[in-house]
Amino acid sequence: MTDEEGSVAQRSEAVVIVGGAIVGSSIAYFLRELGFAGVITVIERDPTYQRSSTALSAASIRTQFGTPVNIHMSLFGAAFFRSIRERFGRDADIGFVERGYLILGGPEAVEARRAGVEMQRGEGADVAALTPVEAQARFPWLNVEDLGVATTARRDEGWFDAWSLLSLMRRGARDRDVSYVEGNAEAITVAGGRVTGVRLSGGGEIKADWCINAAGPASAAIVRDLGIALPVSARKRTVFGIKTPLERSGFPMLFDISGAWIRPEGEGFICGIAPTDDNDPDATGDFEPAHALLEETLWPALAHRIPALEQLRVERAWAGHYEVNTFDHNGIVGRHDEIENLVFATGFSGHGVMHAPATGRGIAELIVHGGFKAIDLSPLGFGRIRSGTPLHETVVY
Ligand SMILES: Cc1cc2nc3c(=O)[nH]c(=O)nc-3n(C[C@H](O)[C@H](O)[C@H](O)COP(=O)(O)OP(=O)(O)OC[C@H]3O[C@@H](n4cnc5c(N)ncnc54)[C@H](O)[C@@H]3O)c2cc1C
Repeated sequence: MTDEEGSVAQRSEAVVIVGGAIVGSSIAYFLRELGFAGVITVIERDPTYQRSSTALSAASIRTQFGTPVNIHMSLFGAAFFRSIRERFGRDADIGFVERGYLILGGPEAVEARRAGVEMQRGEGADVAALTPVEAQARFPWLNVEDLGVATTARRDEGWFDAWSLLSLMRRGARDRDVSYVEGNAEAITVAGGRVTGVRLSGGGEIKADWCINAAGPASAAIVRDLGIALPVSARKRTVFGIKTPLERSGFPMLFDISGAWIRPEGEGFICGIAPTDDNDPDATGDFEPAHALLEETLWPALAHRIPALEQLRVERAWAGHYEVNTFDHNGIVGRHDEIENLVFATGFSGHGVMHAPATGRGIAELIVHGGFKAIDLSPLGFGRIRSGTPLHETVVY
């Protein structure tokens, strides 16, 4: 099929995207960017996005992954963030601070972490390993007594404002005739092995030649009636906003060996720690911050690593949901293996904002060109779940 024939065919096609936060909006944006001329409808049940993962996230980006495809997606994301003004106009700003993650490891991790750095560098990430002495020289506030290694990147890592990114993507999509419909997608209708439409609660159905499931932590629910067991679960993650006299300039996104993380934000810092596996149930509907984490695990871990954090004041706390792929902690991106016009873009397990641009581009390529082009996202396909062959991501936070 030539591009011309493709675009003629697509002019009469209708894409329905369920979920209009960062992943859904990025897909809509890139569909137009690649010249898709058909109808695009984004169904979003909460236009305020106040409980979306996107709005509640820590909005950071790293290239330090154990899975090459994730590294490529992050590199694409960082390049996209740097091109915000060219894409969206001179006033566009997502506050991208390109300052690097600092990921710490104990003495037992040195060999594996250095091998990880080699792999990451081979994939194009500008990551380097530091000895504890080197890390201490660069970050004088860091307690390195029990460390063996620290890794960091000189570029393509840092943080940004997810809300601004979402607003720009939505604007970019709406300006090019993408319709955002307020409503709850209740069911996906299938006939003859193909999606034919998406039914809304309260009545009405939107015709679909393609249905994209970008519903984040709720993405398993909307395909359950089709008999599809999508291994995506809503897992609560709490973020604490703190004030402390600790100097913010030059401070990276720090990931400690305890699992605690901290980075500068506004006039203070934000920080968090994941609950233990046995205390991490599906949390659908539960947005109450897990305050106990601060006293029990987070503060002791931070005060050990950064003695200056003996003094801190908690100013706020919020909880959002990771859309955890319980099968292998990697995104699920691509077509269903039997219902071929049903496409997944979910399961990012804590890295969905940084990977939204690459996902949007990839899904748009799939629809417009019939396959992935910029990055081969096929390792993230649904087929691995059906065949029971996980693609484990090892660097998970
Ligand atoms: C505390 C926290 C920290 C995080 N930190 C980072 C980070 O540093 N970097 C990073 O890259 N990622 C991070 N993440 C993960 C990231 O936020 C998510 O991976 C990403 O936002 C997923 O985007 P999404 O658009 O798929 O999902 P969401 O933002 O959750 O959007 C899904 C949308 O679908 C809508 N929806 C759901 N079901 C339906 C339905 N049936 N009908 C209509 N609409 C529906 C919802 O209302 C929602 O707006 C973090 C997440 C949390 C909670």
